[in-house]
Amino acid sequence: MAGVSADVIVVGLGAMGAATLLALARRGVSALGIDRFHPPHDQGSSHGETRITRLAVGEGAAYAPLVARSHELWRGLEAETGEELLLQCGGLVMGRRGIATGHHGKPAFVERTIEVARQCAIPHEVLEADELGRRYPQMRLEGDEFASYEPSAGLVFPERCIAAQLELAGRLGARMQLGTVVRSVARDGDGVCLTTDHGLLRAGRVVLTAGAWTSGLVPALAPVTSVRRQVLHWFPVADPASYAPERFPIFIWMHGPREGDYFYGFPCLDGQASLKVATEQAEEETTADGVDRQVAAKESSAFHARHVAPRLAGVLAARERAAACLYTVTPDGGFIVDDVPGVPGAIVASPCSGHGFKHSAGLGEALAARVSGAAVGLEAFRLGRFGA
Ligand SMILES: Cc1cc2nc3c(=O)[nH]c(=O)nc-3n(C[C@H](O)[C@H](O)[C@H](O)COP(=O)(O)OP(=O)(O)OC[C@H]3O[C@@H](n4cnc5c(N)ncnc54)[C@H](O)[C@@H]3O)c2cc1C
Repeated sequence: MAGVSADVIVVGLGAMGAATLLALARRGVSALGIDRFHPPHDQGSSHGETRITRLAVGEGAAYAPLVARSHELWRGLEAETGEELLLQCGGLVMGRRGIATGHHGKPAFVERTIEVARQCAIPHEVLEADELGRRYPQMRLEGDEFASYEPSAGLVFPERCIAAQLELAGRLGARMQLGTVVRSVARDGDGVCLTTDHGLLRAGRVVLTAGAWTSGLVPALAPVTSVRRQVLHWFPVADPASYAPERFPIFIWMHGPREGDYFYGFPCLDGQASLKVATEQAEEETTADGVDRQVAAKESSAFHARHVAPRLAGVLAARERAAACLYTVTPDGGFIVDDVPGVPGAIVASPCSGHGFKHSAGLGEALAARVSGAAVGLEAFRLGRFGA
């Protein structure tokens, strides 16, 4: 194909695109990455310092190889760059006996987590409330809680991962065009043509990893994806040492029967005196360009009163800071990774619904293999499952 800008163009260099660009560069593929902003940034789905990672993914065993591979890749990247990217401080997935609680669209999430841990031989312990209370006196329990504790769970630093991946991709020969908006994607002979606000680009293959903006480029995704504003809160703690990663794990806590009776959180990180906590909301839709990025103080105080004050000791109500972030959600809470209908040579990857970061390095590697012609088993994420 004459006049191509690169063999492969990656559109969107957030979690998914940065991982894909690095994996392409490692394979020696001539690759160009494009982003409308300058990643890592705080306009999409990959900001806020930390993301939970766990190998026993109650979202389904189909995801387990991706997160396991991601951990290996991040450890390798740490060795190459000297950056700390993955902190395995342990993780609790908690619910209450006798109260049906789902998460990420999956019912009985604690039980499913335990099932995946058993199926995939992931070391874990099932803890009852008395043991939880002994280990974590910071938690105020009702007495009927139970949890799956996974020592290999923990957190990833999203901005650091994206920066490290892009930096290394550049060193390995990938090119990047930042501050460029891709407006449309179309078939172009046996390749793909992109219209951008800086002119036309052509490539043999294109990978679309545009996060919350994806349906604007792939209309087939519009009926099966929607964007939701989510809020992250940081609250000061009276005794940061009691919430340090050595004493306090990441947690996902489903504490009641109502929709939204759920929150998750992280330990206090090095040098910080605040705890990051959040819940998820599925009711209100928004758009990537129209979302309200300000977080009102009353949003944080309502969150603290409902979730934090009754359950975590010594976490103060006056927030330190807050941030808004975007989920791109599918009806079954699963990812979409598939060929773009009507544009041969283009692949779309929308791995969000609130649980995509932990899989991004492994999925990026799989996408790079797929555009390079390898048979890669990503059938669980086909668009066709929605009848589209
Ligand atoms: C509040 C919150 C909490 C989360 N918690 C977790 C968690 O604990 N664990 C977990 O595993 N996952 C979690 N997730 C999900 C995870 O963060 C996402 O799945 C992941 O970040 C999605 O990455 P992405 O690459 O699809 O999108 P993004 O990182 O947003 O990247 C998309 C990129 O595309 C660029 N772009 C968009 N349109 C265009 C265009 N037209 N032209 C050029 N560039 C374009 C954007 O600028 C952006 O850089 C959470 C998400 C949120 C919002």
